[in-house]
Amino acid sequence: MTTHKQDQLRAEMLDSVRRFVDREVIPTATPLEHANEYPTALVERMKELGLFGATIPEEYGGLGLDFTTYAMIIEELCRGWMTLSGILNTHLLLAYILRMYGTPDQKQRLLPAMTTGEKRGALALTEPHAGSDAQQIRTTAVRAGDSYLINGSKMFVTNGRHGTMFALAAKTDPQADPPHRGISLFVAEKGPGGCTVSRDIDKIGYKGVDTSEVLFEDFPVPAANLIGGTEGAGFKQVMSGLEVGRINIAARAVGVARAAFEDAIRYAQQRETFGKPICEHQAIQLKLADMATKLEAARLLTHQAARKKDRGERCDMEAGMAKLFASETAQEVSLEAMRILGGYGYTKEFRVERYYRDAPLMIIGEGTNEIQRIVIAKNLIRKYSI
Ligand SMILES: Cc1cc2nc3c(=O)[nH]c(=O)nc-3n(C[C@H](O)[C@H](O)[C@H](O)COP(=O)(O)OP(=O)(O)OC[C@H]3O[C@@H](n4cnc5c(N)ncnc54)[C@H](O)[C@@H]3O)c2cc1C
Repeated sequence: MTTHKQDQLRAEMLDSVRRFVDREVIPTATPLEHANEYPTALVERMKELGLFGATIPEEYGGLGLDFTTYAMIIEELCRGWMTLSGILNTHLLLAYILRMYGTPDQKQRLLPAMTTGEKRGALALTEPHAGSDAQQIRTTAVRAGDSYLINGSKMFVTNGRHGTMFALAAKTDPQADPPHRGISLFVAEKGPGGCTVSRDIDKIGYKGVDTSEVLFEDFPVPAANLIGGTEGAGFKQVMSGLEVGRINIAARAVGVARAAFEDAIRYAQQRETFGKPICEHQAIQLKLADMATKLEAARLLTHQAARKKDRGERCDMEAGMAKLFASETAQEVSLEAMRILGGYGYTKEFRVERYYRDAPLMIIGEGTNEIQRIVIAKNLIRKYSI
């Protein structure tokens, strides 16, 4: 796609998403969130807007947007409701892995139906005993004729119930040393028998979207669904996909921080104490200035990581920095917004309480911020090696 066409498409998409958020998301998000209700109607509208194919190339029917535009779209969506970005995240993460590493047959078979949202992806990496240390997963995939039989249990699978297929990491060689060489990645499409969504996990925020535990018992996955057709390449594939996931998380955090800042600056001009609007008190001004400055910095880091991914370069350090800074910013800014709203900020009558409950997920999900710091430091030591 030419730069001009990409710019035009970016402007059009952002305009459509902005209108969708203002007219349909903001008025409905709070009741849906408080009821922990799946946003079926909003998901259908997201399909109509083409968001399930946002970053899938045009040759497979997608919009072929770059990751910078994707980050802008995610920010807009999360200005309305962070949950909506989670419905897209692992779906587009799987699409990215297929685009990068899938066989021609896998791309042709799966990507077109993903663009429409007919097929919906999820990521089944984490297990009850293995999150940060993903190499320690215990789920196994054993070849049996034209299939692999999957056995194991996956934890915290976002879209686990509403998704139709998983990017599923499993050990094809449990004895491999180092362990990551024994991990393979499969597209496991749900089917009868052997795959059970055993429960949905109740969360303090990130409501509405399903985060599930999924059990696999002799669940057959066709060998044709081993991503790239090669055993032992799964860890690298999933780590590369997580760069896209971390851009999504950073952009989400920017969206939540922006919503909190915008609600706070509006309120600060309406609420009066000691004879003037609170925005005229210097203590409030200092807060607003810090909130806006951190928000801008978080957005710039996010776009920098996305641009590097768009150039086809490895961006684990930049995506890690963006995710780390933006998520800590979202947490700080949502708390500052709550302080600015005073007692009202602590009620369920204003949206700030939701931002405050949603923000910590970005600190933990897609690799905790402790792990991001480790990734960043490893890159720095390599870069500055003497
Ligand atoms: C709402 C939600 C949705 C999620 N969605 C998905 C999904 O769709 N698919 C999926 O596969 N996973 C998903 N996850 C899982 C998520 O990625 C993990 O929770 C996360 O990676 C942390 O793993 P853990 O919870 O096992 O924590 P642990 O790995 O047990 O870590 C516990 C603590 O120890 C710290 N720690 C661990 N190792 C180190 C170290 N080497 N140095 C310093 N500190 C360390 C961590 O930072 C953390 O503070 C989701 C999680 C949540 C909460």
